[in-house]
Formats: sequence, C-alpha cells, structure tokens
Amino acid sequence: MQSTRAKAKKAGDKHYFTGKECAHGHTEKRYACDGACMQCARKKASKQAMANPEKRKALLAKWRGENKEHEKKYREEYAASGMAAIANKRYAEKNKEKKLEATREWRRNNPQKSYETTMRRSKARRLAVPKWFDSESVKCFYTAARMLRDMGFNYHVDHVIPITHNLVCGLHTPDNLQLLPAFDNLSKGNKFNIEGGI
Ligand SMILES: [Zn+2]
Repeated sequence: MQSTRAKAKKAGDKHYFTGKECAHGHTEKRYACDGACMQCARKKASKQAMANPEKRKALLAKWRGENKEHEKKYREEYAASGMAAIANKRYAEKNKEKKLEATREWRRNNPQKSYETTMRRSKARRLAVPKWFDSESVKCFYTAARMLRDMGFNYHVDHVIPITHNLVCGLHTPDNLQLLPAFDNLSKGNKFNIEGGI
C-alpha cells in the first residue's frame, strides 16, 4: 500500500494509506482517484442511500440483473456453509417476541379478518363460514364495535346462536351477529336455549 496519492496513481493502485486522520478524524485508506477517505465515502453513500430508498432499490435491482451468476454462486456457497440455517434460527429467536407483538397488533387492527382466519383454520368451525359469506356486511359489525369501543363503550360482536355448541351451530353471518356490551356478552357465554332462542 502506497503512502501518497501520487505514488498510488503511479503504481496503478486504487487505494493508498497515509496513516494520518482525515478531516473527520478517520484513520482510513483513501481513494487514489480523488483522495477521498474511504470511511467518509461509505458514510456519504449510506446517507444518500437512506435519502433515496427508491434509487437504492433500482441500483440494487440493476446490479442483481447484471450479476446473477455472482449472486447465485454466493447464495449456493452460503446455503452450503450451513450459515443460512444458523442465521435464520438466530433471527427467528431474536425476533420471536417482535413477531408475536406484530401478530397481536394486526389482530387488534383487523379483528374481523383475524376471526375469519381462525375460523377457517379450525376444521370444526369451518362450517360456520358458508360459501355465500358476505364479508363486507360482517365487517360492519366489527367496525361498529370498534367505533363504540373508541368512544368508551365496551361492545363485542356476539353470535346470537353460538357457532360452537353441542346442540346448535350458528353461522358467522350478518343475520347471526349482534352487538352486545362486553359484560352481557361475557355473562351470556356460550349459553343457548333452544326453545327461547337465547
Ligand atoms: Zn473520513
């Protein structure tokens, strides 16, 4: 490694190292082409990248398009080294709580969708969501409940006829939904009286 820019240029090197600090206090190699400190250049590049995420994406896509072989090889080597599995595991562990919280947050924001997903996943409950299911109307109940909750009234969306009961099977459809104050809903539980309807 040459110690001056002139020497580096003469030797055809891309970098040189003076051993002195740059104007920003970095003791780093410098570029022979313009004498810029490499640490400063990295900082500048990352700042620019942060300011232009779209441009960064486009550049990355372009680079990937031009370096498909390189990337493929890198991926293969990475996978073969077993590093990927370790990294994935570590990442999952580290983000377990984060992921859980994200899921909870999504459920809070999408109570109706969350409910439907649970329903569809559960084989026993799947019957309660018929094919002609009117998702938009059902959504209204959940929106209304949420609005009421935002206003300080704790309302739940309740199934008039319970959907999981040993005697009856109500549907998760608009005509089987009602808004109930949380207390009533909780005290009602899963009770159902065949003769009285409820
Ligand atoms: Zn610097």
